[in-house]
Amino acid sequence: GAVIGVARHLRLEVHRRSALLCLNKVAGKVFRIGHLGNLKELQLLGCLSDVEMVLKDVGYPNFRQLFLIPTTGTGAWESALTNTLSPGDRIVSFLIGQFSLLWIDQQQRLGFDVDVVESDWGHGADLAALERKLRNDTHRTIKAVAIVHNETATGVTNDLAAVRRLLDAYAHPALLLVDGVSSICALDFRMDEWGVDVALTGSQKALSMPTGMGIVCASPKALEASKTARSVRVFFDWKDYLKFYEMGTYWPYTPSIQLLYGLRTALDLIFEEGLDNVFKRHNRLGTATRFAVEAWGLKNCCQKEECFSDTVTAVVVPPYIDSAEIVKHAWKRYNLSLGLGLNKVAGKVFRIGHLGNLNELQLLGCLSGVEMVLKDVGYPVKLGSGVAAAAAYLSNYTPLIPSRI
Ligand code: PLP
Repeated sequence: GAVIGVARHLRLEVHRRSALLCLNKVAGKVFRIGHLGNLKELQLLGCLSDVEMVLKDVGYPNFRQLFLIPTTGTGAWESALTNTLSPGDRIVSFLIGQFSLLWIDQQQRLGFDVDVVESDWGHGADLAALERKLRNDTHRTIKAVAIVHNETATGVTNDLAAVRRLLDAYAHPALLLVDGVSSICALDFRMDEWGVDVALTGSQKALSMPTGMGIVCASPKALEASKTARSVRVFFDWKDYLKFYEMGTYWPYTPSIQLLYGLRTALDLIFEEGLDNVFKRHNRLGTATRFAVEAWGLKNCCQKEECFSDTVTAVVVPPYIDSAEIVKHAWKRYNLSLGLGLNKVAGKVFRIGHLGNLNELQLLGCLSGVEMVLKDVGYPVKLGSGVAAAAAYLSNYTPLIPSRI
């Protein structure tokens, strides 16, 4: 099914009828290459090279199984956990901000034995603690490591390659479950290279779609684990999805067609720009925002440069200002949507989101709005200072739009 799906995306000639004829006993197990009629050798070679691209795209030989679920990021978390683990299983989980906290809360309420590794908010995952736990885990009691790639509450990006290196160094078989809600399709994300077993995201972040689609991708190891995992699941059961994939009808319930059309368009935009260019654009937007914050004389909530997030920046305000006022005022006066400080950093930070379908000039508009709000709430900001710093950087580094060269 995945082969046929990708082939259709590449506009490779795929007959719906032939896909249907693959139903029954070989449904989902074979795809067929027609080579009859008015076909020359060179045309066949062209077709075979297309097939090779498709096989690579669907992850062969490391096949990854995708689940498109009518849900949000929170449901995608639940799908990842309940399909791969059993109640009582030990999970090492990093607490670095509100979203990792919420995921941990879900893990606990689902009955897992959560070994929480906490860092101060503004810091990344404590990998030294992970190393100690892996070293001491001679009986292999850790069944999964769960980590939020980009903590949206504090603007901190974790180093997933380093997590994989540690698991490999101890030849540890724990599953690596990754929340990529505010990273996938915006930050470099390497499911294969980093040996991620379940990667998940939600439609409303880097894909810039409406909320409502949870995207969950499972490695062969995660799929294998799902065969014996004993957590109760119904709506999220991968088994039901796989059954319907085999039948060629794909969803065990009514699919959210409008979101699938949205996904088609979101992916077209990404393919047009090129995924690497998407990553570079986010890096430019993140860097420009950080220049603006510095010019305003404010601090980034993220404490280490190597963890700075290119999708969201949490800005620390002076103690005499309530950051919630900034967010409220931006909304009420300038129709500008900023993020609140959450939980431990409530009142202390406001957040500037810079992910998804956003360009340099839109960001500059947002930064100028932030400046006006800062002035309104009594912070001594020089209007234009952050915008000038960001614009100076962007005017040096913004390339020509790839599709218009
Ligand atoms: N994970 C992260 C990193 C998030 O930023 C969010 C929401 O912002 C979630 C999970 C939860 O996603 P949702 O609100 O779509 O359920």
